[in-house]
Amino acid sequence: MIDRVPATEQPYAYSRVELVEPDWTRFPGWRDVTAEDWESVQWQRAHCVKNIKQLRALLGDTVDESFYADLEQDQTQRATMSMLVPPQMLNTMVPAGAPSTDGFYADPVRRYMLPVFTDRRTDWPSHPHATRDSLHEQDMWVAEGLTHRYPTKVLAELLPTCPQYCGHCTRMDLVGNSTPTIDKLKFNLKPVDRFDAMLSYLRANPGVRDVVVSGGDVANLPWPRLEGFVDSLLDIDNIRDIRLATKALMGLPQHWLQDDVRQGMERLATKARQRGASIAIHTHVNHANSITPMVAKATRAMLDTGIRDVRNQGVLMSGVNADPHALLDLCFTLLDGAQIMPYYFYMCDMIPFSEHWRVSVHEAQDLQHGVMGYLPGFATPRIVCDVPFVGKRWVHQLESYDRERGISYWTKNYRTSIERDDPEALTRTYEYYDPIHTLPAEGQQWWREHAGDHLAAAEAAAKTSRQAAEAQKDLLVH
Ligand code: SF4
Repeated sequence: MIDRVPATEQPYAYSRVELVEPDWTRFPGWRDVTAEDWESVQWQRAHCVKNIKQLRALLGDTVDESFYADLEQDQTQRATMSMLVPPQMLNTMVPAGAPSTDGFYADPVRRYMLPVFTDRRTDWPSHPHATRDSLHEQDMWVAEGLTHRYPTKVLAELLPTCPQYCGHCTRMDLVGNSTPTIDKLKFNLKPVDRFDAMLSYLRANPGVRDVVVSGGDVANLPWPRLEGFVDSLLDIDNIRDIRLATKALMGLPQHWLQDDVRQGMERLATKARQRGASIAIHTHVNHANSITPMVAKATRAMLDTGIRDVRNQGVLMSGVNADPHALLDLCFTLLDGAQIMPYYFYMCDMIPFSEHWRVSVHEAQDLQHGVMGYLPGFATPRIVCDVPFVGKRWVHQLESYDRERGISYWTKNYRTSIERDDPEALTRTYEYYDPIHTLPAEGQQWWREHAGDHLAAAEAAAKTSRQAAEAQKDLLVH
């Protein structure tokens, strides 16, 4: 909830903020970098920070050795994503004044892009129910990389890479390079065969009208290949909505400002308009500091091509934005500064080592309450919980809730692609788990005593679902 305030004041005070591109020359390693370099996508890609040596070369002794050691310990013992931060994004960490150790530790963007070992919890670093593919997207693949979970919508994972890797990535199973703790899943098919199989499925299934074209991040696909895929989607009569998922609109806006990308997007937007379909960009911004004039310029360039909209899907994370002021600051900056529509905030998913970021369902409900009424209704973001085997639910939509054990129960009104023959799919309740450290003492004690039994029961249920998925896939293949 928004803090208690004197009866005469609003809990949140809106004020218009001017966007500023932080001065990158404050970092020792970028002292001589020119504006021309900064605006070049080639320069940005070539100077991404991929390891501690490169970070040290950039920050020098503005940050203590203890910070680098903390980061290294995280990289070797906890990280589910490898390190990759474009200069544009790094420049939004500690944006004002001289960089410092304390500043880096406290910075909200650093907290999710460069997590350190001491950020994470030591009591319950992972929830007992945390899994690599917590949303079971792979179980619901109807062609390699094509997840069919909702009746009319699919997710097409075109590639497994991004220009930046977020520590909390929900698709950590597939996306990015392997880390010391996680061996990544690999696609088997060549991209051209994978894309063909996806398009064939969509041509054969006229009940699907909406395709999220994602990855990874579509900014890492060579433009002609992305344009070719989207162009083919536009040739399928049943496809009415196409959403291109790219965090790079914020992390590497220079990509979306390239002439060939702008011209290509204009061709796609024109074709979409002519056939009454929509193309939108969905980006992923978690903090107001990430919105700079360069991000606003790239968004403007995309809107000018004639696409329908640019929307934001952020992730709710403790230490980053799980506070009504931070969420409202972000939404107003998106809307006023860059004309990006606030759309969703997802609760951080139950992947390994994410407990320090996750918030409980009741905290998420309070946050939803805290942001209501300030933004226009069409720009008021929904805070959603992505419930395994269910999908997105608004956080107030739960069926029942055991606050002591932190178990919420959810239902759904459609079958996923793996439940076409499951008579109980629409009556069963599905569980979601709050972080254990947020529970009362009795609840924490219950998990200490029962985590093993509970997990075994849940695994048995998941095995049944996986068998159903396999049987369904066999049916699709044969
Ligand atoms: S940009 Fe998206 S897909 Fe890529 S690492 Fe971040 S959260 Fe994952």
